[in-house]
Amino acid sequence: MGKLIIAIDGPSGTGKSTTARLLAEKLNLPYVDSGIFYRAITYLLFKNKIKPDEIKRIEQIAKKINLEFKDEDVYLNGINVTKEIRTLDVTNRVSSVSKIKEIRKIIVEKLRNYAGSRGVVMDGRDIGTVVFPEANYKFYFFCDLNTRAARRQQDFLDLGHKIPLKKILLELKKRDELDKNRKDSPLKISDDAIELDTTNLIIEEQVDFIYKRIVSANNMLNNEL
Ligand code: C5P
Repeated sequence: MGKLIIAIDGPSGTGKSTTARLLAEKLNLPYVDSGIFYRAITYLLFKNKIKPDEIKRIEQIAKKINLEFKDEDVYLNGINVTKEIRTLDVTNRVSSVSKIKEIRKIIVEKLRNYAGSRGVVMDGRDIGTVVFPEANYKFYFFCDLNTRAARRQQDFLDLGHKIPLKKILLELKKRDELDKNRKDSPLKISDDAIELDTTNLIIEEQVDFIYKRIVSANNMLNNEL
């Protein structure tokens, strides 16, 4: 197999990130959760009390962002922010920050560097449409809203926060709305993406779905050569 870029897009709570991480392990490729970049900048702006209209300062901060991933932990400019970037405060603000076009430009550049020589599995909202329009495989996950909310509630519980389902439903709806309707690179299905409804699937089935597609496409290619 040559360089392999796999893009998985879709709204929050569809199981993209876990699927992408396991798939990357299986294919021995690097994995990048692009949402972490938007969460990291949101966290920094919030912490430093920077307003969305202070574009010059925002650009300076975004350019300096350096993220490192060690096991399950995320280090932002050398500091472990694994918990901080997943709080409800950051989650509630991230879509208002990620719609700023100057931020997207800087982050998209950073994300492209992760493809390296072997490729990458990356999940997000605009990976197949903007970051890697040339990706070898593009997937778009969707899922019933209540199921997504229940999954997100469990994610928060795993981090030690008990949040009512109603609050999570509101947060998800608001974020969907903002992500789908922003001017710059909105969340949408790429024309050449394969869609998958994950409502009744477990993670292993989602990984398997993608893995089988890739393996069978490669076998076909090898047979043709
Ligand atoms: O994937 P996650 O829920 O962590 O993403 C957080 C937010 O980051 C999204 O709601 C969206 O506003 C933004 N995002 C984006 N483009 C991406 C990934 C995430 O705008 N490729």
